[in-house]
Amino acid sequence: ATERLIMSEKLAAVGEITAGVAHEINNPIAVIQGNLDVARGLLGPEADKAATEFKLIDDQVHRIGAIVSRLLQFSRPGEFSGSDHTASPSEVVNDCLLLTRHELDAARIEVETSLQSIRTVPMERTELQQVVVNLIINALHAVKQEGRLSISVEDANDGVIITVADTGVGMSRETLRHIFDPFFTTKQAEGTGLGLSISQRLVTEAGGRLTAESVEGEGSTFHMWLPATPDSDDLA
Ligand code: ADP
Repeated sequence: ATERLIMSEKLAAVGEITAGVAHEINNPIAVIQGNLDVARGLLGPEADKAATEFKLIDDQVHRIGAIVSRLLQFSRPGEFSGSDHTASPSEVVNDCLLLTRHELDAARIEVETSLQSIRTVPMERTELQQVVVNLIINALHAVKQEGRLSISVEDANDGVIITVADTGVGMSRETLRHIFDPFFTTKQAEGTGLGLSISQRLVTEAGGRLTAESVEGEGSTFHMWLPATPDSDDLA
């Protein structure tokens, strides 16, 4: 329990620092990007001699930009933490699938959905969206090419369960033990290891639970339980 407490304090501190740092990194990146284009323009045809190098710089600058915007998305400390915010998990899952459709199509991943719940949950919509997109992107990374992603939303007693399952590479027991630790990643340079730790924090703050199970070589399943907003059955 102490370990958990330290983890969550560490995560809160990390959130504040990263939000600040990420913000500061944005400006220099824009300057580098802008000047790179100007330099290339000034060199004219000469620029072709260094085409490979320019592309490398370009790609890496883009990557920094992507990491920074991801950190910014995730690290905003609970600006919205109140209790009167609600989201519809079925709607959010639908939106998330639209957001990721190109990537899923490109990887020829078959998507199976079952959106059975009309309930709402006490969570900021954008936060729930971040969590679900993160789970989908992780599934995409795990499947790589040609597999299946199944997403369902269903009522469960006094709450809603969102299940995201993939037929990807799966995880070893050792990996599974650490996936919710801040900065734990098996993706080397491409991963930040922040997605699941921050997702779990957001879900926990909303009074829910995020858990995972996996069979190595077969796939992984993430279950997210969220309490339903009182009376949200009556809304429809
Ligand atoms: P990142 O994706 O940047 O590595 P996450 O916190 O989202 O950070 O995930 C941590 C690790 O959990 C991943 O590096 C990967 O090893 C494992 N993981 C997460 N989702 C899946 C999945 N669907 N299938 C297999 N492994 C996964």
